[in-house]
Amino acid sequence: MPGNSTDTIAAIASGAGGAIAVLRVSGADATAVAGRVWRGRAAPGRLRPRELHLGYACTPDGTALDQCLLVRFAAPASYTGEDMVELHTHGGLYVARAVLAEVLRAGTRHAEPGEFTRRAFLNGKLDLTQAEAVADIVAAHTASALRLANRQAEGRLGRRVGTLYDRLTAVGAEVESRLDFPDERLGWLPPPRVLAEIHALRDEVAGLLATRRAGEILRHGIHVVIAGLPNVGKSSLMNAVLGRDRAIVTDIPGTTRDTLEELAQIRGIPVRLTDTAGLHTAAGPIERLGVERSLASLGAAQLVLWVYDASQPYAPQAPPPAVTPAPLLYVANKGDLVGEAPLPPGAPAGAVRVSALTGAGLDTLYEAIEHAVWESPDWREPECAVNARHAALLETAAASLSDAAAEVSREAWELAAVALRAATLATGRLIGRTAAPDVLDAIFSRFCIGK
Ligand code: GDP
Repeated sequence: MPGNSTDTIAAIASGAGGAIAVLRVSGADATAVAGRVWRGRAAPGRLRPRELHLGYACTPDGTALDQCLLVRFAAPASYTGEDMVELHTHGGLYVARAVLAEVLRAGTRHAEPGEFTRRAFLNGKLDLTQAEAVADIVAAHTASALRLANRQAEGRLGRRVGTLYDRLTAVGAEVESRLDFPDERLGWLPPPRVLAEIHALRDEVAGLLATRRAGEILRHGIHVVIAGLPNVGKSSLMNAVLGRDRAIVTDIPGTTRDTLEELAQIRGIPVRLTDTAGLHTAAGPIERLGVERSLASLGAAQLVLWVYDASQPYAPQAPPPAVTPAPLLYVANKGDLVGEAPLPPGAPAGAVRVSALTGAGLDTLYEAIEHAVWESPDWREPECAVNARHAALLETAAASLSDAAAEVSREAWELAAVALRAATLATGRLIGRTAAPDVLDAIFSRFCIGK
C-alpha cells in the first residue's frame, strides 16, 4: 500500500488543458481540510452534500487564489467510500496547482496513481474487476472497447466470477465436511452429484477463458501491417482506411521511407495500422532502413494485408517466402484499372479486389479483416471478456478443478478438498476477495494520478 491508507489524500483529477480543473480530496479530514482552504456561504461541513457551492480557494491569509465550486460527499456515499470533497477551479495549470498546494498544506498527502480507486476497492465500493474496468474506460479507443469496459465496470464480470466463487466455496465445504465429520454421513451429496457440480464449474471457467482473445483484441487492438512492393498503393490504401491523407502518396516508387502507425477502427475492432516502406532492393541507406523496419513490423504483425497491383503480372509481386509468421490477406489493388477482368494469372485465390483510389471493395476488405481477426464469420461481442490477469487465475482454477474431479472420482476427499481450495483461492483473487498487496500495486499503477 502506498503511504498510509487512512491519510487524507488529494490530487488534480482532470487532465491538462481543460477549462475546468477538478481537485479531489478523500479521507476522514477531507471536509476539515476544505474548510481551511475554501471560503463560501458556510463552512463546507455545514453545506448539503452533493450540491455545488460557489466560493473562493484562499491562502491562509485570506487571499483569494481562484473562484471555485465545491461539492462534498459524505461517507460512505462517495467514489472512495470515504468523506470526499471536490473543488472545481479554473483549468489553468498554475491556478489548479496553486489550489492543490494549499490543500496539501492544509493537511493532505498527494495521492498515488490509482489511489482513489484503490480506496474504493478496499472500502468495498468496487470489486477488482470493476476497478480494472475504470482504467479500461480511460484507455478505450473504440465503441466496442468502451462497451466492454462499461459492462465490466457495472459488475457483470465480477458478478459472474462471484457466483463461481460462491459455488466453489459451497462444493468445497461439502467435500471438507466429509473430513471434519467423517462419521456423520447424513446430508452428504452422492459423489456423482459432487462430480457433476465440479464439471459444471470447470465448464463455466472454460467459458470465461474462451473470452480471453476477444478481451485482448477489444482492449489492445490488433496490429495490422500493410505490405507489398513499392507503388502498389499501400499508402493509398492506408489513407482510404483512415479516411484522410496521413501517408504521403506519390508515384515515385519507394517514397514511404519509414513505417507509419495509426490507430483505426475496422468494424469495431481497434486496429493499429502500419504502412510499411516497400519491400524491395533499396537504393540508399535511408531506403534500406525503411525496408529493415518493414521486415521488423512484419515480424510483429498479427495480420498482414499483402497488397499487389491487379493491373500488373502477379508473380513478381508475390510475398517473399516466410516473410511473416502472421496470416496474410491478399489485396488486389487498383481494381479500377482492370474493371471486371479476371485477376492476373497466379494471383492467390481469395484475394480481395479493391480500389484505394475509388474506395470500391473496401467493405469486402473490412469483412475479410473481421473474419480473419475473429477466426469466425459469426462472431458476437461477448458480454464480458477476461484480461491476461484474469486468464492466468482462471487457468489455475481450471487445472485445480480437473484435479478435484479426478480425486472425487476415486473418493480421495482430502486431495479433492486441497484442489478445490486452490480453485477457490484463484477465483477469489480474480475479484479481489483475497488480494495480495503486490497484486494491487500492479493493478493500480496502471492508473493516472487522481483516478
Ligand atoms: P505505395 O508505394 O505502395 O505506398 O503506393 P502509393 O499509395 O504511393 O501509390 C502509388 C501510385 O499508385 C500513386 O500514383 C497512386 O495514386 C496510385 N494508386 C494507388 N492506389 C490506386 C488505385 O486503387 N487505383 C489507381 N488507378 N491508382 C492507384
